[in-house]
Amino acid sequence: MAANPAGLAFSREMQQQLVEKEWNRIKDKFPAERSRLMPYPGGPQCMGCKQLVKKVQVCAGCKMVIYCSPECMREWWKKGHKRHCPATKRDGEQIPKYKEIMRQFPWTDAGWNCQGYYFENLVLVQFGVLGSSREKVGYWAAQERSSRDIWDKTLDSPWGRQLTEEEGWKLPTKFIPSLAPEVCPSFPPTFNDNWTSYYQWRRLPIESPAAMLLQWPLSVYACLKELGLVKKEVAGPRRKLRVDYIGLRDEFSFIPVFGELALLFPNTDLDLVMFGEHNSRAFERAKSRGLAPQPCVFEYTAPSMCGSGTIRIFVDPSPPYYRPSRDPSDHPDAIVALNAGLGSFISWQHVILLSIEFDIPFAVTDYCETSLTEVKWEVLQQGVSSTLPAPKGIELIHYHSTLAKVLKEVRIADVEKVSAALGRERPAKLNEFMAPSQRTLMHSLSPGSSNGVIQVVARGTAKV
Ligand SMILES: [Zn+2]
Ligand SMILES: [Zn+2]
Repeated sequence: MAANPAGLAFSREMQQQLVEKEWNRIKDKFPAERSRLMPYPGGPQCMGCKQLVKKVQVCAGCKMVIYCSPECMREWWKKGHKRHCPATKRDGEQIPKYKEIMRQFPWTDAGWNCQGYYFENLVLVQFGVLGSSREKVGYWAAQERSSRDIWDKTLDSPWGRQLTEEEGWKLPTKFIPSLAPEVCPSFPPTFNDNWTSYYQWRRLPIESPAAMLLQWPLSVYACLKELGLVKKEVAGPRRKLRVDYIGLRDEFSFIPVFGELALLFPNTDLDLVMFGEHNSRAFERAKSRGLAPQPCVFEYTAPSMCGSGTIRIFVDPSPPYYRPSRDPSDHPDAIVALNAGLGSFISWQHVILLSIEFDIPFAVTDYCETSLTEVKWEVLQQGVSSTLPAPKGIELIHYHSTLAKVLKEVRIADVEKVSAALGRERPAKLNEFMAPSQRTLMHSLSPGSSNGVIQVVARGTAKV
């Protein structure tokens, strides 16, 4: 496999040579997968006009965003890059760190295509788990969700027959992070917060691609650690912990992977309650197929020599959108949302405001620091502490009108507290348990990965 070419300058000739080489390699080795491995047609694109760019020009501030011309650069700056540029610059400075996380795994080399872009599919092919059929590729089917059929099967998965570890992971036995008692890791957990150390503690060879799915439970762990809810000692009475996991999507098809959390929360009953906009449809489907949908879809208890942690996973059927309850006795100990995109969906604004109002610890992950800057904290703050001023710029007009509705629904009681909290700095922290991967962007050189950074939205007051 060629060395990672991502650090090299763009050169059309070089790309063309690499395309041909890669294509030839794939066509003989993986004929059935050829169509999925088509490289991007042209390489870098202008952030402004989206044209293919022959001579790349980058933003003078962050040195990350790609333009075709000074005109596009100026226009895009005014359109909003001005606001994102500092975070994009910080993301750029983190590139070595993102690379270091990937380089822990030898198999990530295979993910770089001939043009220097990273494709997870190239890695999945190496392990024979690229595909959309749950029967054929088990838990990995989630990666290829495209048609309605696939989605429906995914929604069935918690209520269908539970896959065995072999059926789910579809990897050689030595590559599977098994929860079987005879291979459970030593106790108490002795790993440092990085994948290499985790694999050692888990006795997994670094050649295993399991991290591509373990990133999900481990990112829950990393969020809860940020919120001060991870405890190493196990003495004393058993701890109860309820975590609301919101924004459930693809995770439907690999829920048993979250069993890993039982090993990380010894002497604890951890209830993970999953909310997602597809939940009610999934429940309806289960009922219509004669299946009795149980709210608890997965349960696992670690052996006593591994700390006896229990995890139960619930899928909440009720509302399309999550709202923390007004009843304090019904509050979770924490809320987590992975790859949340807090600024992209208006329904998140309720959760932001209410988690702060009710002091519920709330942490999220996103692809990189720039993704986190989508939340318009200062507009939220203005809206809470006074009436919203007239929106400046076309992008804010829609946002202001929907936000006005949100604020009416939320009815903040302690305006001063919530307003002060919204004005606070929210630093991003790199997640050592991010997906060992690299998000492919055509119009930017900045790094990013699934669960790449963690941000604490509300520090809350941990009760446990
Ligand atoms: Zn342009
Ligand atoms: Zn910039």
